[in-house]
Amino acid sequence: MKTAVVGGGAAGFFLAINLKEMCPQMDVTILEASHHVLAKVKISGGGRCNCTNSFEEVKDLQSVYPRGHRLLKRLFKQFNHRDAYEWFENRGVKLVTQEDQCVFPQSQDSQTIINLFLSETRRLGVTIKTGYRVSSLDELSDYDFIAITTGGMSKSQTSNFKPQTIIPPVPSLFTFNIEDKALRDLMGTVIEASAMIPGTKMRASGPLLITHWGMSGPCILRLSSYAARLLSEHNYQMPLSVNWTQLKENEVQEELLSFCRQYAQKQLPSMRPFDLPQRLWNYLLEKSLQGRAHAPWGSLNQKELNRLTNILTNDTYEIAGRAPFKDEFVTCGGISLSAVNPSTLESREHPHLYFAGEVLDIDGVTGGFNFQAAWTTAYAVATAIAAQN
Ligand SMILES: Cc1cc2nc3c(=O)[nH]c(=O)nc-3n(C[C@H](O)[C@H](O)[C@H](O)COP(=O)(O)OP(=O)(O)OC[C@H]3O[C@@H](n4cnc5c(N)ncnc54)[C@H](O)[C@@H]3O)c2cc1C
Repeated sequence: MKTAVVGGGAAGFFLAINLKEMCPQMDVTILEASHHVLAKVKISGGGRCNCTNSFEEVKDLQSVYPRGHRLLKRLFKQFNHRDAYEWFENRGVKLVTQEDQCVFPQSQDSQTIINLFLSETRRLGVTIKTGYRVSSLDELSDYDFIAITTGGMSKSQTSNFKPQTIIPPVPSLFTFNIEDKALRDLMGTVIEASAMIPGTKMRASGPLLITHWGMSGPCILRLSSYAARLLSEHNYQMPLSVNWTQLKENEVQEELLSFCRQYAQKQLPSMRPFDLPQRLWNYLLEKSLQGRAHAPWGSLNQKELNRLTNILTNDTYEIAGRAPFKDEFVTCGGISLSAVNPSTLESREHPHLYFAGEVLDIDGVTGGFNFQAAWTTAYAVATAIAAQN
């Protein structure tokens, strides 16, 4: 029996290695279009490869997999983050879990993962053909099983599939351009905040980074993932609301009132509530109180307190475009999950044709979740093919 794995990326290698281990008699070939395999693994996680996550801080899967959480819940019973951790460690790759629950190779070098995949394919006898772009399934008529692991789809690639099997691809995990000179002057400021798209339920929290073109950081990247399709439909021009305190309005106003009592004689900029970074506090004071930004705390009237509360909890901006996040980038959309069997990932239309990795309409937020989806779906396909031999 022969299996063709189309695409020599994370999912393709993981699938081929596991399949060959489960089925040593199977002839397994990886067909890779470019001259280099595992190119994304190499650059992943800033060259360190954030290969999975401990999931310790994940309360519900939808918060980390906006697309594909139901399917992954099912497939994690077969192969989850603990299995992935063991898989790598049992093969000699020591892993470390950071404080933020992201898992990396102890070497802090993505090449460690690549070396493991290459040595495992050699050991097991998986054939690798590079410079081999598959343009039609007809080319693969010699193979008994075909696994498509070609990664995030571009719009032009969608024409290779029937329209009803495709969820149109759009980018996910990007930063927001915001044309506000005074905000951009705060470049480098990081603060725990929450951000939302007004009028929707889409909101995210976490560290927010102000950059020289707008906003970035885990909070914004998560929001870009939740709102990937909506933002695309609006050509990346939508309002954004930031809560710089992560507190409710009444809690913020209470704290401001206590500052008014405690520091009545002190100037507003000299006493910072909520541990706000000084430059951000000065900016928010100017934005809400203009000429009164240096007034004493005790002189604030109710209207001014309301304006300050509002800016701290619902500071609105206009998103004026997106910029790629160089550390991670994925595609929302791809092969519709309704087009595959949810246990085996076999095409409902073409028996013996399987899909794994980012080509599927599954994507996660940053933190090792995208590689975990690649390992899990690849393992499920390997198991399904092996079960037929
Ligand atoms: C800069 C960057 C950093 C990232 N960092 C992380 C991270 O730290 N942690 C994390 O979890 N995720 C990260 N990701 C996301 C992660 O890399 C992807 O989710 C993952 O690589 C998907 O694996 P895949 O095998 O499905 O696709 P890919 O890794 O994209 O592999 C697909 C392969 O298929 C080949 N191919 C395509 N079409 C054909 C064809 N017709 N014939 C033959 N071959 C073909 C491609 O050349 C490619 O080699 C990062 C992504 C980027 C871009």
